Formats: sequence, structure tokens, C-alpha cells
Amino acid sequence: MSELGITLPLQADQSLASFCSQVASANGASSAREFCMHMGMQFQHVVDGTAESIERLAVLSGVGVSCLSKAAVIKQGGMYLINGEKLRRPFLRRSRLRYCPACLIGDNAREDRLPQARLYGRRDWLVSFIRTCPVHQIEFATLENPAGPSLLHDFTAVMRDKSLDLDSVLAGSQGRNPSNFEQYVTGRLTNGTASVGYLDLLPLYAAGRSCEMLGAILEHGIKVASDNISESQWWSCAESGFKVMSNGEEAIRECLTAFHDRFFTTSRDIGGRSLYGRFYEWLAHENEDSAYDPIRDLIRAHAVATLPLGPGDEMFGPLTIPRRWHSVHTAAREFGVHPKRLRKLAIGAGLAKEAAIDLTDDRILLDASEVETLIRHGREALSYNDARAYVNAPRVQWEILIKLGYVKPFVETATGPALKAKFSLSELDRFLAKISRSGIGEPVVGETYTIPDASKRANCKASEVIDLLLQGELREVAIDTMTSGFLAVQVNPSEIRRKTALIAHGGVSLKQAEKKLQTSSQVLRALLELGAIAPRIAINPTNRCPQTIIYPVDLESFKARYVSLNNLAIERDEHIRRTKKFLNDAGISAAFDPEKVHATFYERVKIPV
Ligand SMILES: [Zn+2]
Repeated sequence: MSELGITLPLQADQSLASFCSQVASANGASSAREFCMHMGMQFQHVVDGTAESIERLAVLSGVGVSCLSKAAVIKQGGMYLINGEKLRRPFLRRSRLRYCPACLIGDNAREDRLPQARLYGRRDWLVSFIRTCPVHQIEFATLENPAGPSLLHDFTAVMRDKSLDLDSVLAGSQGRNPSNFEQYVTGRLTNGTASVGYLDLLPLYAAGRSCEMLGAILEHGIKVASDNISESQWWSCAESGFKVMSNGEEAIRECLTAFHDRFFTTSRDIGGRSLYGRFYEWLAHENEDSAYDPIRDLIRAHAVATLPLGPGDEMFGPLTIPRRWHSVHTAAREFGVHPKRLRKLAIGAGLAKEAAIDLTDDRILLDASEVETLIRHGREALSYNDARAYVNAPRVQWEILIKLGYVKPFVETATGPALKAKFSLSELDRFLAKISRSGIGEPVVGETYTIPDASKRANCKASEVIDLLLQGELREVAIDTMTSGFLAVQVNPSEIRRKTALIAHGGVSLKQAEKKLQTSSQVLRALLELGAIAPRIAINPTNRCPQTIIYPVDLESFKARYVSLNNLAIERDEHIRRTKKFLNDAGISAAFDPEKVHATFYERVKIPV
């Protein structure tokens, strides 16, 4: 039921104010204001979507309250709600009237509507973020000065008053598809929050404006003057910003990092303005709206996580987050070290990359958690020779300790001589503590010597002794309390000999071979010289010297082939002379020249049985 003579249906995409304006026009009122006055209400209340005006309009028009509410822009404090989505005044386009000429041409063609009430305003035309008609895929046209105050928001009356040449406006319109950003905004206005994550956490106006402002610096650089950006440029900016922001926090951080990288190619001082330009100024100085705090927090956290910023610096106010990175510049200032010295220390210690050499002090990043240690080490650093004296190691052993990595310099010279290396006291103390603990603590039975002496006695390299010692392999270790450091450590050469012995070569020595052949060393030597027995050279597993040995197999094959006159007599159980005569009578001569060998050997095969 309706109180009015003429009623109209509310169009699905219509705004509440424009509905009221259309109904007024249909009923012959000269303006919506006049119409409302006659109906006992105020048009401004309709514009502001007050509950009373919606209820009154529902009674008048016969359209349900909930439908009218969805069409309304409800003013609530400083906020404007459309279907529950929050907007602020700057993001509503009402005095500058925007429209799609094709939509209005379509309205005009609707002969089922009263001629004076065919045109109506669409709700989404009021929202600044939407700039394209999704039905006709063209940009909106704008009516700059639609009417005086009396016709403000009175869409149908304004259009009647202006009688625009819509065909020529349409002819001049730019065609384009609604952007993903616009579809997102429309989606939220129609169905509530979509599902793109991070952006949905922000009120619609903050989500929309953030996309636009981020897009502005992405498309036009950080120094962009936003006043000079045209509507179609904003359309493009919003889409660029949305592409990043709709992909969530990680994508935003990546985008910010790209701005950091760009910053590092400049010589400007580090700060929000120099890093993010207009985007930062807008968030820091041009609005204090807490709706943007999630973005501010994200930027602040990411900047501190990746840049030399910390307490004392500013990023949306004074920073309180603990510092993650120093630059050579900030660390030198904080710790009172000369930047030149700190830069050298940091590069030498590998804390700053070699590639950083060409950067200025405020561009070289140092891990804040390591800077303090670096500086302390720098202050107490010992030179190569001083460190050697501190450890009390002979030169050769000192070199071995460094080469094997048991003592690590904290400033290494990648290219220069090791002599330029620096050692921190704490590193040297750590090493000394380690070697003094290296004995297992068993009572020392044998005689002990310093590592250099013990390695000589055990015929092995000092590095082998050091390895055994520092890997906890030695049981007999004593500390000489009369001296200090490396030379105070005493080890047992016998234990070392056992632990460094090579695998036995399996041969017998010449002395052992003599016994097995039951002959003299003179004879054996002669047999070796003649090649009757093959001599071999092998490393003595204990003293590691090369020695002449004989493999048992060679010895056995000699014994199988030859027999000495002496042994043959024993085998035949007769006097040697009788054996000699027997051989002579059989015409068997000695296998080797007895003059040379100093003994007489015969080939067994030639001896008659
Ligand atoms: Zn349209």
C-alpha cells in the first residue's frame, strides 16, 4: 500500500536519494526537496539515509525498508555506510555528479516509465573508486557543476534541468573493462567482504585508497604529485596497487623491498619519505586515521627487518622496535668507533659482503646482533705474532693450528698474507681452554714431552699429534705447570706411536730372513744382489722410514728351489764332505759362484735322489 498517487519500483542498482528524486519527479514535484517538505520529511535526511526517512519513504512508496536501506548511503558520525561497507566523505562523488551516458540513454528509451521520471542515479556512481560502467564498459562521464544547492543530490531533477546531449557524451567516452580493483569494490558493496585476505581486513575506503596511493608511486614514482593525476590515471594506479595489495602481506613486503632497492641506488638519507615518497607522506602526515594502522605497522616492521633503522629513527613516529640492522654509519655512531676502521673490520670479518666495498657507510648493512661482538673483538684484536706469543706456540705449530682451523682469525685476509690476520682474545682463550682440557685425565704412566718433541720421537707430523689431542684421542696428557699455553701440553710419544702406526707391510726384515735361511747376513746380501731373492722396499710402520724387506713368499720359493751344501748334508744325515763328494761325482755344480756368495747352493731339481 502506498500513500502516493504514482509509485515506482526501486531499481536494483539505484541509490536511495535518486529513488526519492525520481518518485518526486513522477508525482509532479519540481524538486525532491519540495516533495519531501510536502510529505513531512527532509530530503537531506534521505540523502543521509536516516532510519526515519527510510521508514517514511517505505510507507510512501510501498518499497520495503530493507531494500531501501541497501540503496542508502547512511551517514554515521564521520562515516558513510553503503550496505555495511565504510566510506568517508572524500570517497563519495555527489556534488560532482558522475554517470554512464549509455545507462541514461537506456533509461530514456524506457517507454514503460513516465517521461519525467525515466532517468535515475546508480548507487555505485557515488563511490569514487568505481570509474567504469560494468554494463557498458565505458568510463563514467562527470557533470562538474550539476546545479545549485536546491537541486543537490536530486538526480532526476538535475538531469531534467540540464537536458544533456547524451549521444555526444557517449561518443566521447573512453571504452574499457572494469578493472579487478573496481570489481573488488563493487563486490564488497554488493555482497560484503570478498575473499582476497589482507585487503578485506581494512574498511572499504582504506582498502581502496591504499591501492590508489601505492599504485600512484608504482606508476609515477615516489615523488608523484597526486593532484596532477587524472581520473583515468587513477583508474590505472588503483589497479596497480590492487595487484600488489590483493596478494597479501608477503606481496606488499616484496613491493616495499623493491622501493628499498631503488633507494640504495640514491645518495639520500634513509627515512620514510626517501624510501616511499608520496605514499609515506600520505600515511604519515596527511591522515591520522587508525584504519590505515595495519599498513603502517607492516611498513614499519618490514623497514626495521631489512634496513638500518632502530630506536632513535622515525617511521610513522619514533621507532621502538629493536634494531635488526646497523649500517657502518649507525654502528660507528652508536659504539663510538671510527667508520673507516669499522668498515675494514666488518668486511674483513665477513660481516659485510666484499661487494659492499663500493657502498657508502650508510648503505653497508651489518647484522645488529653481531656488531657488538665485532667491535669488542676489534678492540682486543691481536696481531699474528702477538697471538702466537699469547698461545705460546712455536712458529711451525702456530701455522699448523691456523691451517687446520683449530684457531680461527676473526679478520681473515682473503687475498693478503696470513700475517695480516687478526685474532680475538676470546678465540685464543677458547683454544687454550680446549687444549688444557684435552687430556682424558687418566694418570700418565709413560714419559711425556711437548707436542713438537713428542712428534719427533713418535716419527709423525705435529699436525697428527694436534689432531689426536684436540679430537680427544690421547689418554696420556699432562700439563706442565712451569710453562703456559700450547707448550705446556705434554703427551706420551709411545701412545702417539701406537695411534699413528701404519698398517704392517707383511714382510720380514733382513735379520729375520737370515734366521729363516740359517745363513749369514753376508750371504743374504749376496743373494739379494744376485737377484736370487727379490728385495722389497717398504715403510716401517713404526718409525716410518723406508726399509729393505723380504716377503715370506719370496723366501719360501727360494728355499724350495735351492738348498745350501750345509743344509743338504743335514737333510741326508751325512758328513758335509761326503755330500760334497757325492755331488762332485754326479757332476753337479753350485747354482751360484761360491766365491761371490760365500756359500754353496745347489738347485734341488739337479740333485739325484
Ligand atoms: Zn552504463
